[in-house]
Amino acid sequence: MPDIHALRRDGTPWLPMYIETINGETCIGCGRCYKVCTHGVLQLMGMTEDDEVVTPDDDEVERMVMTLADKGRCVGCEACIQVCGSKSITLIPAAEALAA
Ligand code: SF4
Ligand code: SF4
Repeated sequence: MPDIHALRRDGTPWLPMYIETINGETCIGCGRCYKVCTHGVLQLMGMTEDDEVVTPDDDEVERMVMTLADKGRCVGCEACIQVCGSKSITLIPAAEALAA
């Protein structure tokens, strides 16, 4: 597994924690994670009665759910997990993510 870290302003190492999954069963679609992520990783979508992810304007939408639009853009800042009250977000260490 590679040794991956970035540097803080003071030169000490910062170990990024990249987003890995969002649990669509526990996510309540509140949008808090979307508001704090400035890297275009997340996308609010609709969920049907049959747990099919569809566009938010679809007639079959039963509830909203957060999805990963582009996991590769995550910088590992951990802001999303800090604001998620339903513990739906899983992060993994950068070294583990990049080795996969
Ligand atoms: S860890 Fe940071 S960059 Fe990655 S999805 Fe969460 S808020 Fe966005
Ligand atoms: S903060 Fe948590 S519950 Fe709210 S939309 Fe994001 S993942 Fe879902």
